[in-house]
Amino acid sequence: MDYGLTPAQEAFGRAFEDFCQKQIAPRAAAVDRAGELSRENWKDLVDMGFFKLYHPAKYGGVGEDTDFVMRAMAEESLAKACAATFLSAGASIGLCGGPILHHGSEKLKAKWLPGLVSGEKIGCFGLTEPDAGTDAANIRTRAEKVPGGWKLYGEKALITNAPIADFGVVMAVSDAEAKHFGVTAFVVDLHGPGVERSAPYRKMGLRGSPTGGLVFDGAFVPDEDVVGEPGAGFIQAMQTLEFGRISMSHFGIGIAEAAFEAGCKYATERRAFGKPIATKQAIQFKLVDCKVEIDTARLMARKVAWMKDEGMACADMASISKTFATEMAVRCADRVVQVFGGWGYTEDFPAERFLRDARLGPIGEGTSEIQRELIARALLGD
Ligand SMILES: Cc1cc2nc3c(=O)[nH]c(=O)nc-3n(C[C@H](O)[C@H](O)[C@H](O)COP(=O)(O)OP(=O)(O)OC[C@H]3O[C@@H](n4cnc5c(N)ncnc54)[C@H](O)[C@@H]3O)c2cc1C
Repeated sequence: MDYGLTPAQEAFGRAFEDFCQKQIAPRAAAVDRAGELSRENWKDLVDMGFFKLYHPAKYGGVGEDTDFVMRAMAEESLAKACAATFLSAGASIGLCGGPILHHGSEKLKAKWLPGLVSGEKIGCFGLTEPDAGTDAANIRTRAEKVPGGWKLYGEKALITNAPIADFGVVMAVSDAEAKHFGVTAFVVDLHGPGVERSAPYRKMGLRGSPTGGLVFDGAFVPDEDVVGEPGAGFIQAMQTLEFGRISMSHFGIGIAEAAFEAGCKYATERRAFGKPIATKQAIQFKLVDCKVEIDTARLMARKVAWMKDEGMACADMASISKTFATEMAVRCADRVVQVFGGWGYTEDFPAERFLRDARLGPIGEGTSEIQRELIARALLGD
């Protein structure tokens, strides 16, 4: 394995970090307070070409010019600058765009991907339901065959971008007898009849990324908007979540890095007993522990990105990386709240936001518990 970056990767990483710190990070506190997606951030991401990193040139992307290592750097910088914007952008271009790109027909890709890549459309990914999250094979939303297409009935919950998305990749049971092989993925126009949305949930963190529910009552999906073959939806969803796990590692590393940098700055400025608190070993060790864990998480995540670029299977490594990086981010953000003392508990400083935002990591895209189950299965057999 080569740990060095190519000159192109290095230049890209620097430019993207610079862009995120100049354009996105200064708005993060206001975005959190406003509790809605920042359209300004979205436009800046479009202008910077973020969405293009994920799709080939024929759909408006940058095709072969991008790679997983570059994407890793971009995702980490974006999560560091504004984790909420990262979450919504990833749900649109990755969770929604990914299954269309990897499993859809040419017609499906040409119809839906250019809107996501240009940022004009916002996508979402509907797997979770009120009674089926981790147990995704137990979804109840059903698809009934009708002439020319399908009608969807059921409910999705906890869906990133649901309150604002234009369309979504939605998993529904098309053949109840076939169990895992009876789930189909549909691209659903969320502005069409038979679709209702809940109000955005009031969340602990990531408030600038709207999360909500979707209700389908006979929403019509034409045959051409089925993703791949009917019955392949469950496997497509699991493959999509593997990509999601890789992104969630970068989510954790980005937030932890932001917390760590804020903690270092504060520790050198805040004085107690006549000296900066950074001179106290108890404070130094908290920050050192953050640094040790962040660098460890980054090494793992870069290995996963490198394995993807090499075309190697990396599902187990993605689970290991996701588990460590997202739990590490909660630990780092918590330590940094402590470094800030009482001010860390107020909204006057960003430390509390980092902790609230980081807490999604061990829950989303497969909980830590399920990651440990997957890792155990890989280690010990089923
Ligand atoms: C902000 C946010 C954004 C989200 N965005 C999306 C999205 O865009 N699309 C989408 O489809 N979903 C999304 N989700 C849903 C998320 O993927 C689920 O919350 C997650 O998969 C867990 O499901 P659940 O909430 O139903 O918890 P449950 O499945 O009810 O789990 C509850 C607890 O039990 C544990 N548990 C369950 N089964 C097992 C087991 N077999 N072994 C050990 N422990 C177990 C879990 O780990 C957890 O600790 C989002 C959630 C949040 C909070």
